[in-house]
Amino acid sequence: MRIAVAGTGYVGLVAGVCFADSGHFVVCVDVDEKKIALLRQGHSPIYEPGLDELLAKNTAAERLTFSTDLAAAVKQSEVVFIAVGTPQADSGDADLRAAMGVAMQIAAAAERYTVVVNKSTVPVGTAARMQAEINARAAGGVQIDVVSNPEFLKEGAAIDDFMRPDRIVVGASSERARAIMGELYAPFVRTESPIYFMDPRSSELTKYAANAMLATRISFMNEVAALCERVGADVDSVRKAMGSDERIGQKFLFPGCGYGGSCFPKDVKALIATARNNGLDFTLLSAVDAVNDRQKRLLAQKAKVHFGDGGLRGKKVGVWGLAFKPKTDDLRQAPALALIEELLADGAVIAAHDPVAIENARGLYGDRVTFVHNPYVAAEGADALFLVTEWNEFRQPDFARVKASMKQPVLFDGRNIWNPQRLREMGFTYYGVGRGSQG
Ligand code: NAD
Repeated sequence: MRIAVAGTGYVGLVAGVCFADSGHFVVCVDVDEKKIALLRQGHSPIYEPGLDELLAKNTAAERLTFSTDLAAAVKQSEVVFIAVGTPQADSGDADLRAAMGVAMQIAAAAERYTVVVNKSTVPVGTAARMQAEINARAAGGVQIDVVSNPEFLKEGAAIDDFMRPDRIVVGASSERARAIMGELYAPFVRTESPIYFMDPRSSELTKYAANAMLATRISFMNEVAALCERVGADVDSVRKAMGSDERIGQKFLFPGCGYGGSCFPKDVKALIATARNNGLDFTLLSAVDAVNDRQKRLLAQKAKVHFGDGGLRGKKVGVWGLAFKPKTDDLRQAPALALIEELLADGAVIAAHDPVAIENARGLYGDRVTFVHNPYVAAEGADALFLVTEWNEFRQPDFARVKASMKQPVLFDGRNIWNPQRLREMGFTYYGVGRGSQG
């Protein structure tokens, strides 16, 4: 098939590359000329394991091209994916201007039957609205079907998730579009993963409900962790024993310094807004959101309590991990940003390290933060070291070296990846999240 993908971010680029790798001819389109120029030179604008290899392979095979000309891409394609950003508007609702704008451009350019696939995360009713607006604009005799096909990939494992999805969700009102979507995804569901066909509204809601559920598990465990600190219980013991119940399961039960990323925070808020717009107060989700805001400030708060009256003014601190999670360079809504803002406001002097996100962070902070390419340098002379993102290389560092180089051996482990007992025996002051009365 000939496919166009509008938006070459984490979702669009990964989808485009993976469809090309299954034999389709794909043109990836973006309004960002710099991004397209970079991609044409064979460089990925984002860090995602496995992406560079697939990019090179499919570009060389001439199945994958890049363009800023959406109209031309639409004219040569049977299926057009919309994978542009749907950021949070001030009201909490998803901002659909980019997605609707692309849909209107598709309507104006299409010259034959086209399936428009909404891969961006969009509120319930968007496919219906898009279909109506496209019908009003499309040239006479040109039929366009709008389909909802939310994306469930995880950054850091995006290629793998796309190639081997747990499930594909397709919300389509037209039989013809449904058949095309089934054919398109057939190579990705050979190992029994289901394609769930449903109506577009259910498909749109499925995406939000899934993300909201995952965010709820995290905030729930963060509340349990807070209680653990009050009553002197250990959240790790509680978590493991809880999760062994197969109705609960072990995944996504890790307390920490909050969830971030481009999806959970905005999708939780958008679902609250959708509920509100439909006369429903989604009380549970409002609490999930509020708990997460509190949790992002937790490490800074613990530091304030630890350092007492003088606070953090003039204190040197190290930060390990900037990306919102390991294996990505994405900083959107990252807990590290909330921590850094608080530390800077309190007058701390920060040296930060991340394996891949330093350049993106430099763009945000300039010289207000010192960025170092060696984690041990971030700890040198520090009064405290904060672990924010659980990159693998931070799991078992040379703690003797860390301790010897720090001014005060104080650790704030925002992901509970270190062994408190061992570290305390080594002479560190250790703070985790919900690990007994000492935190
Ligand atoms: P992103 O910000 O990384 O990329 C969006 C891209 O769209 C940018 O490159 C931007 O320049 C481009 N764009 C904006 N307007 C455009 C236009 N008019 N024409 C062409 N390109 C345009 O976003 P993302 O993280 O890939 O997310 C895209 C959508 O997918 C969002 O709705 C998001 O909620 C959803 N989603 C994201 C993830 C994820 O892990 N990032 C997972 C599932 C779903």
